Amino acid sequence: MKLFIIFFACCFITASAQAEWHTENATIMGTNIHVEVWAEQPELGTHAIQTVFTEMQRINQLMSPYIDSSELSKINRLAAHQPVKISQEMFDLLQLSVGLSAETQGAFDITFASVGFLYHYQKKHKPTQQDIDKALSAISYKHIQLDPANTSVYFNHTDVKIDLGGIAKGHVVDTSIELLKNLGIQHALVTAGGDTKLLGDRLGRPWHVGIRDPRNKERQAVTLPLINTAISTSGDYERYFEQDGVRYHHILSPKTGKSAYQVQSVSIIGKRSTLNDGLSTAVFVLGVKDGIDLINRTPGYDAIIMDNQRKMHYSKDLVL
Ligand code: ADP
Ligand code: MG
Repeated sequence: MKLFIIFFACCFITASAQAEWHTENATIMGTNIHVEVWAEQPELGTHAIQTVFTEMQRINQLMSPYIDSSELSKINRLAAHQPVKISQEMFDLLQLSVGLSAETQGAFDITFASVGFLYHYQKKHKPTQQDIDKALSAISYKHIQLDPANTSVYFNHTDVKIDLGGIAKGHVVDTSIELLKNLGIQHALVTAGGDTKLLGDRLGRPWHVGIRDPRNKERQAVTLPLINTAISTSGDYERYFEQDGVRYHHILSPKTGKSAYQVQSVSIIGKRSTLNDGLSTAVFVLGVKDGIDLINRTPGYDAIIMDNQRKMHYSKDLVL
């Protein structure tokens, strides 16, 4: 009996002594991934992080515009000619995206890509005004026809292209946290580029999530203590080039086909990372007034904006 107790106590001490934080970084979906999990056993921690990385690779294969065999590329090749049957996951994300367009007066619109594909930020290439004018009529979420009975998508304009860059990382972060929960993990952080989701707290303390200074990557503009929520930041510094003193960056106004200039950075805080991601892009395009108005009428979601004069603005629930 005594021996058994000693053995049991040893097991207990070994098990809890092995509980620890597991942290890993990777580059997936062309962006920086950072994952932290608290796991009682080291094998679980390693397995949990691997599960997240595998999930991110899966979604990248499905949604990347740079992979010819992705479902997204297939849609862009075919949907203007015939209805294309798609996965339920893709269908749900397209439906959510179209709904967000309607709620944001078209500021968030995945058909921005009809003009967006003419920009090559790394090559410092932008379309001429003539190119933009020619392609602009293809930008409208109203061109996307979704048929729930057949889970299919059809574009009723020949030149429509879609891109999920404004929402796919939020989606991947949401699905990753769900997988971690299913593995029994209770404390975790998953970041994909500007999208972060937190599961639980940091063992009795909040997580501290920084919003970087848009003009100095070494500096945080704000640091927020957060628990069990998510935050996404859209900035004009992720992909851009400068020419003749103008910054050409990757968040485009669907109305003009050109970069939006009212703000430098938008962060949205709320439970669902997919919505944070889409809303941060939308508010970036809408600018301070319309953007804050939108978030003030969206229950459970808050906004922090740095405008183009580097002044900070907050939605109503963040103002004391
Ligand atoms: P980040 O890449 O900085 O995390 P976002 O979440 O704002 O930021 O995503 C920017 C991406 O969203 C762009 O690279 C592009 O793929 C896509 N995008 C750009 N403009 C729009 C828009 N008006 N509506 C929807 N998606 C957009
Ligand atoms: Mg976004």
